[in-house]
Amino acid sequence: MAISPIPHWFEGSEYTHKVAACIMKYGPISRITLAQILGLSQGAVSRITSDLIYAGVIEETPMAAGHGGKLPKDFLRKSAQKSIQKENTERRGRPQTGLRIIANARTFVGMKINTTHITAVTVNALGQIVTGCHDLPLDDDSPESVVDVIKQLTMDCADEAIMAGLPSPCAVGVSLGGHIVDDSMVTFAPFLHWSKPVEFSALIQEATGLPTGIYNDIDSLVVDACMFGSGVGLNSFAVVTIGIGVGYSLTVNGEPIDNPDKSYGLVGHILVDPDGPRCISGHKGCATCLTDNSIATEYSEMIGHPATFDEFAAAARASKTQATNLVNRTCFRLGTLIATIANLAMPDKIMIAGESSFIAKLGIDNLRNGINMYRHSQAAPVDFEIAEHDWSLWSKAAAAQAIRQYVG
Ligand SMILES: [Zn+2]
Repeated sequence: MAISPIPHWFEGSEYTHKVAACIMKYGPISRITLAQILGLSQGAVSRITSDLIYAGVIEETPMAAGHGGKLPKDFLRKSAQKSIQKENTERRGRPQTGLRIIANARTFVGMKINTTHITAVTVNALGQIVTGCHDLPLDDDSPESVVDVIKQLTMDCADEAIMAGLPSPCAVGVSLGGHIVDDSMVTFAPFLHWSKPVEFSALIQEATGLPTGIYNDIDSLVVDACMFGSGVGLNSFAVVTIGIGVGYSLTVNGEPIDNPDKSYGLVGHILVDPDGPRCISGHKGCATCLTDNSIATEYSEMIGHPATFDEFAAAARASKTQATNLVNRTCFRLGTLIATIANLAMPDKIMIAGESSFIAKLGIDNLRNGINMYRHSQAAPVDFEIAEHDWSLWSKAAAAQAIRQYVG
């Protein structure tokens, strides 16, 4: 496995890093529960957590009996069988001591590079946004110009963090739509028009003085959800994004499935509607019909004159009949795609995100109909959620990737 451009927070064995990562996801958590999840003796967990307290990574906190936070899904299932939880909480008639990451011990800058602008936020060690969202335009997409903008945003975020009494950022996470090797070299980023591989991590580190990881943007969303959001404790979690393009990523045990071809938009041409519009590759009714451009074209044909996607969105929000019809049709198609993913990849949960995720909220009944049409009637309902679109959350997700590597 390649060496990450992000250094480790602390020195320690593989288990020291596992314990810290477990506390990050599930804290506050008791030492007993930690030992049970990781299959370690309580003595080993006590020694490791003492080291982590000494290193300023974690702290003790009073914890009510039982467990307030999430726990791994498999662990909860086994616990229910063996009544482990009950034994834990009833063993001693006093409140337990929980362990949690010291949230503001470190800060990180997270950024998302878009076609026309870059957004940046500062987050703490628990992936919580602690500064405002900084946004700068991208007038020139040469690597040097992009690095200049990133440098300025890093300084803006660092200044704001220090003003707030927080530590200066220790690392930067940058996400973009494209393919990245070893979290450092961008080999494919169609929207930036780079003609050859760019050692992006090294360029940013040279400009900012901070270790920098480069990540795929959609992978970052799933990693963030699995570390700090609704994917915590799940075995597998998928995200589908709709907007300028259609994106997809899947994690197993919090790790994105890696494949050299995955950045080529493989989900974009899956059949979702045999009667749908034709894409530029000649497919009829492929998932490209979920993109903004395709929706704008289809809407223009429905109303009989050219309309932009924004005009469609405004009409849809105003519940205009033709726009609503297209919302419903689009949601049914999206539901078909969700059912295909649920049936083949079998994730515990699917998140619908992206710039145009509001469409899913406008036509949720049709989304469900689309899912149900292609799902076995006895199969469990597909667990999905629709994320509000906000570029600051995409930026935060890039920082989550850096945090994951920083904790090891
Ligand atoms: Zn197609």
